[in-house]
Amino acid sequence: MHRRHFAVLACVVLCCAAAAGAQSSSAALTVIRAGTLIDGTSDAPAHNKLIFVRGERIEKLAEAGAAIPEDAKVIDLSSATVLPGLIDSHTHIFLWGEDPKKGGYDANILNAGIAQRAARATAAVRRALEQGFTTLRDLETEGAGYGDVEIKAAIEEGAIPGPRLFVVTRAISTTGGYNLEGYAPELDMPKGAQLIDGPVSARKAAREQLDHGADWIKVYMTHRSWVDRAGNLVSQPTLTVEELRAIVDETHGWGKKVACHAYNGIGMQRALDGGCDSIEHGLELTDANIAQMLKQGTWYCPTIVPYLQNWPTEDTPGGKRDRKRASVHEPSFKKALTAGVKIVFGTDMGGIPWSEPEAEEFVYMVNYGMKPMDAIRSATSRAAVMLDMQGEIGVVAAGAYADVIAVPGDPLKSIAELKNVKFVMHNGSVFRNDAGR
Ligand SMILES: [Zn+2]
Repeated sequence: MHRRHFAVLACVVLCCAAAAGAQSSSAALTVIRAGTLIDGTSDAPAHNKLIFVRGERIEKLAEAGAAIPEDAKVIDLSSATVLPGLIDSHTHIFLWGEDPKKGGYDANILNAGIAQRAARATAAVRRALEQGFTTLRDLETEGAGYGDVEIKAAIEEGAIPGPRLFVVTRAISTTGGYNLEGYAPELDMPKGAQLIDGPVSARKAAREQLDHGADWIKVYMTHRSWVDRAGNLVSQPTLTVEELRAIVDETHGWGKKVACHAYNGIGMQRALDGGCDSIEHGLELTDANIAQMLKQGTWYCPTIVPYLQNWPTEDTPGGKRDRKRASVHEPSFKKALTAGVKIVFGTDMGGIPWSEPEAEEFVYMVNYGMKPMDAIRSATSRAAVMLDMQGEIGVVAAGAYADVIAVPGDPLKSIAELKNVKFVMHNGSVFRNDAGR
C-alpha cells in the first residue's frame, strides 16, 4: 500500500474509532450481580461482585455494595457461579459426526452439498454459543473450502448468532495424507484438505489460505495409524520438515500461527522440528517430545474424548488401533501436565456429533489429573494467550470483551457442572438467560 493512502486510511480508522468510543461511553449499562466469580486467571473464586458492562466490553468490576446507576439493567446471578465465556481451541463446525453407521467421515462430503453443510455449520455455531463457548478455534472445514471465513462473516454482520471464530480454511496435507480415500484409483475424489507436494507447493497453499482469510494454518503431520507386530502405535508421517518449514515461515511472516495434527513418531518429530505452534491430539508424547515442546513453547491441545468413541470390535485392526491410541493418550496427557506443557482445551466437536455436550472434555481432563481451576484456565485465559487475545477474552476483567457465562452449581466441586450453562452473554449481548432475573 502507498504511504499516502495509508495516512488517509489511518485517519479514517482513527475518526471511526473516536466515534465508536463516544458511542460506547453513552451505550446502555448492564450490571451483572455475580454470587461467585471465577474470573479465568485467579487461583481462587471471588464472591459478591458486580460486573459493569457497557457496549461490548466490561467497563469495571466492583463490590456488591457499590452504587448502581438507576438506568442500568441489572442481571441477578447472585446464586450462580459466573465465568468468562469458554474457548474451544479445536472444533469443526462443518463436520456432522463420524458415526460409521451413518457413513462415517465420508458421508459429510459425499452426501451433503455446500448449502446443507453451511446450514449445519450455522447450527453448530449456535449450539456452541448456547453451551457457553463464546470463542472457537475451528480447525478446518473438511472439504467445505473457505466456508468458515463466510460463517465468521455472517456472525460478525449479525446475520446469525455464533461465537467469535478463529478459522483455518482448508488445512494442508500431502498426497496420500488425507480422506477421501479407499475408492477406485480412476476416481478423482474430493479431499478433506488441500494436498501439497514439495516446499514450493506447500508455501503456495499457505499463501492462498492466508490470502482468503485464514487466521491460523492447520497442517496434518500424521495420517493413518496402526499397531505394529511389536504392539506399538505407528503413524504414517505426511509432510517433510522442509515442506512444513515453508508453511511455518510463510505463516509466521503474516504474524499468524500453525496448528499441527500429530499423533506420534516420525510425524510428531517433524512437527516439532518444523516449528509448529500447537500440537493437536499428541496421542503419544515421548519425554524428548515434551522437553522440546517446553523449550519451544509449543501448545498442546489433547482432545481426549474423540479417541474414546466409535471403536470397532477388539479383534479387528481398527479395534486394536483405537484401544492402543486411547491407552497411550492418557499417560501422555499426564506427563505433559506434570512437566508444565501449556495445555489448552479442545474437543474436536464435529468429529463428535454437535448434539453431544461440548464440556465433556473437561470431565476427562480432570479425571486424568488436571485441577478443575486449571482445566477452566485451559479453556479461558490460557487459550486466550495462544490466540494472542490475552486480557481481551477468557477473562472477566475491565477492558475485556463482555463474554460472560454462568452455571447454577460449583464447577470446582464437580467440573461436569460446566455442561449446565444457563446464562450466556457474548460481546455484551445476552444470548441466553435461564438463570438470572
Ligand atoms: Zn480435528
